Parts: sequence; structure tokens; C-alpha cells
Amino acid sequence: MSLDTILSRIDDDIDASTERLFELLRIPSISTDPAYKADCQTAADWLVSDLAALGVEAEARPTPGHPMVIGHAGEGGPHVLFYGHYDVQPVDPLELWHREPFDPEVQDGPAGKVIRARGACDDKGQLMTFLEACRAWKAVTGEWPCRITFVFEGEEESGSPSLVPFLEAHKDELSQPDIALICDTGLFDRQTPAITTMLRGLLGEEIIVTGPDKDLHSGLYGGAAANPIRVLSKILAALHDGQGRVTVPGFYDGVTELPANIQAQWDALGFDAEGFLGGVDLSVPAGETGRSVLEMIWSRPTCEFNGIVGGYAGDGFKTVLPSQARAKVSFRLVGEQDPFAIRESFRGMVKSMVPADCTVEFLNHGNSPATVMSTADPAFEKARLALSDEWPNDAAFIGSGGSIPIVGYFKEILGMDSMLIGFGLDDDLVHSPNEKYDFRSFHKGIRSWARVLDALTR
Ligand SMILES: [Zn+2]
Repeated sequence: MSLDTILSRIDDDIDASTERLFELLRIPSISTDPAYKADCQTAADWLVSDLAALGVEAEARPTPGHPMVIGHAGEGGPHVLFYGHYDVQPVDPLELWHREPFDPEVQDGPAGKVIRARGACDDKGQLMTFLEACRAWKAVTGEWPCRITFVFEGEEESGSPSLVPFLEAHKDELSQPDIALICDTGLFDRQTPAITTMLRGLLGEEIIVTGPDKDLHSGLYGGAAANPIRVLSKILAALHDGQGRVTVPGFYDGVTELPANIQAQWDALGFDAEGFLGGVDLSVPAGETGRSVLEMIWSRPTCEFNGIVGGYAGDGFKTVLPSQARAKVSFRLVGEQDPFAIRESFRGMVKSMVPADCTVEFLNHGNSPATVMSTADPAFEKARLALSDEWPNDAAFIGSGGSIPIVGYFKEILGMDSMLIGFGLDDDLVHSPNEKYDFRSFHKGIRSWARVLDALTR
């Protein structure tokens, strides 16, 4: 068999592939709204029967919420776990849709044909790229490319309450694969595929500085009484130096420089930093001196202030010395930075700056470490080259400024790295009215998975 035969089969079958996706898109599987509980079950059942049509032993396993679809196929070669989710976001405000959200249609768009429907991209369209690649492979060769475990979740859009308990309970069954393939991310741009290999972690803290036991008149006490806003401002201002670096002692422990090959890939992306900042009416990067904007959002840690409250903020003017001032502070973490050590160091630094007759309290708003995939695993480079064969530009290992919780759960509970490959675009309107998926993303996405599976099994 040759990969070319499978790719031709995908091209020949694309209309039927689209129709199958439409069947799934017609099911309004909105996970957060109890009114659609039966529809979530219907979507899970649809996937079970589609997997069964491929000869996969699959089941919709019950959870306290919506079912988890689990299937096992193939034997020999590497063992991959494929993850996608069949639930979708609510559709309101419905009046902003130009078409029934669950009545999918192929439409002409400014950049080519698009598939319009809730879930067209997130995540039904993306999920089906992988299933369709498997279908073509099976049709041409009569076999599976390798051993595959399918995991389709039905609660991703509503916080995945059943996921961790399910993974814990089925650890023996699900921790066998070598790597997880997750299709819920995007292309870097229309021409450039990407594998997301770095996800920043997050640490959330709230500082509450208390001074006098009540709000005071600034004419009567001003000058003599400690002002919590002044104390808090001084603390916040001290958290960055003149170079934009975070001053918390030990903050950069575990932060490493980008490997040369990744740096070269990022340089080749030709990222439009001016356009990125220009899009929000800014022009001057605010991160560390000497770092590119891509580094600032993907590979460097940050300290940001997300809210400050204190004193009188209503209309007019009030000469008050407040009793209390508070700030919400978040840190995006990278590499091996230890959230617990940073929290301790941050609190120590803040305490040392509070005058003797003021007090400070902290609220813990959670933490998660960064995730860095071991791209030294040859599977990553194989997949990158395979994607590069399908798309106009070479694929890159990229970072993501935010976090993707499932990746952390697969790592912590199942002990496996995830390869995040997806074909979404920034203008897909995921979670918004008029969601779409480029027809080209769907078609080339299917072809991409065939190439990736071929590469991984060589
Ligand atoms: Zn999604």
C-alpha cells in the first residue's frame, strides 16, 4: 500500500466525509445545558456506531455527566490515544446567527469554502478529521495503521467535571498508549501547520493590605496614617525591574532558553508582531527587554495585575484614606518553574514590604505548572515533517500562552505526553455565533492525519 493511494481515497471520499460530519453537526450536543442531555447521549451513540462501522469495539461509557466514548482498534506499531470532544458550546445569542446553528451548510467565504455550524470547528470538525483519516486507511489497506485508543469526551465545554475521575478509574485501560494525539488546536496561519509543544502554567494570588481599622479623612490623618493603597502600589511597582523582568527572588529558576532548532522554527514563522499589537491598538511590547513578542507570549514567564480595588472609585471625589486595598496578581509560568516555590517567595517578598502597623493577607487562586512536551521523542519530528508535506509552509513546534487542562491530566494521570495538532483558524468564531471551519482545514486535516499516522508507523 502507499500513502498516495490513501490520500487519493480521502480526496475521492470527501463528499461522503462531509456528509458524515454534517450528521454529527446536526445533533445539538450542548453539554452545559441540561435540556440537551439526551442530545449529548445521541452524539455519543452516533460516534459509537461510526466507530463500530470501522470495526472498532467502542462503547459510550456512562459518567455522572455525559458519556465518555471509548474505543480500541488495531494492533502492533506505536500505540496512540486520540482525544476529541463531541460536546459544543451553547448557541445564544441565536439572533446573531445567519443560519440555524445545527443545520450545517457548505458556504462560500472570502478565503474559500467554509462549513458553517455550531461545532464545525470546535471540536466535531476537528475530531472527524482523524476518524476520516482512519476510515480511508482502513478502506485502502484493510487494516489499522497502528494500535489506537479513542477517547471522545462530552463535557469539555462545561469544565470536564467527569474527566479526571474517569481517567483515574480507567487508568489501567487508558495509560497503555505511548502518546496522546489531540485535535482541538489551530494552524499557525492559513499556510502553516503547527504542533503545540509548550503550554504556560498559571499561578493566581490575591493580596489584601489592611492599614487603619476604618476609612479615614485624608485632611485629618493624611501624612500620619499609613495608606494601604500607597503600600500596595509600592509592592506592585516593585514586581518588575526596568528591563521588564520579574523581581520575585528565584522566579527564573527552571526557565530555560529556547533550543536552537525551535528558535529557528519560530524565526521562520515570520510572526507579525506589529500586526498582533496593532490589532489591539498598541505598538510597544511590554515584556522583557531583548525578547521577541512570540517569546513574550509563548516561552517567557509573566507577572500581571488583573485587578486593583481600594478607596473611593465612585463618581465625584472623596478624600478618603482607605482601610484596605487589594490586588489580584497572576503569573504565567514556563519550563520547570515551581508554582509552590514561587508562591512562597512572592508572599515573602510582599510581606517584607508591608510596614509594621499594616497587615497583609493572601488568597490562593490556584496554580498549575507549565507543560513542555519532550520533542526529543522522534514522534514529534516525524509528525512535524509529515505536516510539512501537506501544507504550503513547514510545520513548527509552537507555544501557547494559555493552558489546555486535558494535556496536564494525560501527563499526570496517564503519564503520557500529548501531541496537539489542529487545523482551526483564528477567524473560526469558535464559541461565537456563526462558527465555521474552513473546508480546506477539514480536507487537508484528514490528509494531514493520514500522513502523520503513516510517519508515526515508520
Ligand atoms: Zn474544543
